[in-house]
Amino acid sequence: MTIGILGGGQLGYMLALAGYPLDLHFRFLDPSPEAPVGRIAPRITADYADHRALEKFAHGLTLVTYEFENVPVASVRFLAERIPVFPSPAALETAQDRRSEKRLFQKLEIPTVEFAEVNSPAALDAAVRQIGLPAVLKTCRMGYDGKGQWVLRTPEDVALAKAEIPGEPLLLEKFTPFTREVSLLAVRSTTGETAFYPLVENHHREGILRLSLAPAPRLMPALQRSAEEYARRILEALGYAGVLAIEFFECEDRLLANEMAPRVHNSGHWTIEGAAVSQFENHLRAVLGLPLGVTAAPGVSAMLNLIGEVPEPAEVLAVPDAHLHLYGKTPRPGRKVGHVTLRAASAAELGERLAALPTFFHRPEFCLEAMPRHSASHKTGKY
Ligand code: AMP
Repeated sequence: MTIGILGGGQLGYMLALAGYPLDLHFRFLDPSPEAPVGRIAPRITADYADHRALEKFAHGLTLVTYEFENVPVASVRFLAERIPVFPSPAALETAQDRRSEKRLFQKLEIPTVEFAEVNSPAALDAAVRQIGLPAVLKTCRMGYDGKGQWVLRTPEDVALAKAEIPGEPLLLEKFTPFTREVSLLAVRSTTGETAFYPLVENHHREGILRLSLAPAPRLMPALQRSAEEYARRILEALGYAGVLAIEFFECEDRLLANEMAPRVHNSGHWTIEGAAVSQFENHLRAVLGLPLGVTAAPGVSAMLNLIGEVPEPAEVLAVPDAHLHLYGKTPRPGRKVGHVTLRAASAAELGERLAALPTFFHRPEFCLEAMPRHSASHKTGKY
């Protein structure tokens, strides 16, 4: 059985690695000749909109999925006319535009950040009057890793943004003083079966995810329950199949949905070693209609992204239960080139293992200060 994957980055790479033990084969399509999957699976190098390449790619596949959410919807629809595509083109289309995403949250009564649509620079003033300052202005499409965003604190910021913003639809959001950022990885199979991973706490620098702590420290069961309830509404409304990642702001013990990604997600990398069955294997099980695997985390994990630089592998591997993943990408500033997952039986042990990482990791961008150190619950071994 061969599965086609649109996008040939590290997410696709890890999907294939999870699929090989299930005797699955893979074929990738990516516009870049540098796509890292090239060393583990056949890859077609072509533009996503190249119909001849899409025909060639689709030939003989069981189904198609994607690991990159900015694939043109028209290309995914073109494929869906020929073979099954999961998650559906409609799910992809919803998640590609912040407006349709937010409208879906509202329709499903999922709390979200207050927002106003801004369809021209002139409309920005009215949006600012409605939302107030501070606010965050975002492009509706193609934003990732904090790109296409302006934080507006003063009328001067608004004037500057007006001169700078591109002539495309934007969204103005109320600046939310959140306690922390968490994400939920939800899975729904084509059979309708669902499963949810524990919420993960995420730390960003310069808009890029640096550290995920899983399960999220001090995770209250009620918070997990509401995240799952919101996710379930989205999965059912979209008739979803595959992994769906939802990012939330936690504010005063409440969750506000920020955005979602219709694919496996960076904040779920810890599941490879830290959960019974990884997000990658569960995504494949879901799109194939196979029973879903256990999503529970037997211990605690920390996932650290390697951005633009790779540490000395031997120094990482010397730390007990440290797992190094290198994606085979040429290091460039801001580029995700690998990650490290540290696993432990308790928060205290995880703290010791993080402290034992080489000096490479003891820099502010790894956000290690986010690791809870002095909480009383340390004594119980829990976060
Ligand atoms: P996003 O692309 O929506 O995930 O935004 C990137 C990052 O900017 C988020 O992870 C937050 O840290 C921050 N951010 C985005 N929207 C808001 C908001 N409305 N209020 C405060 N911070 C925000």
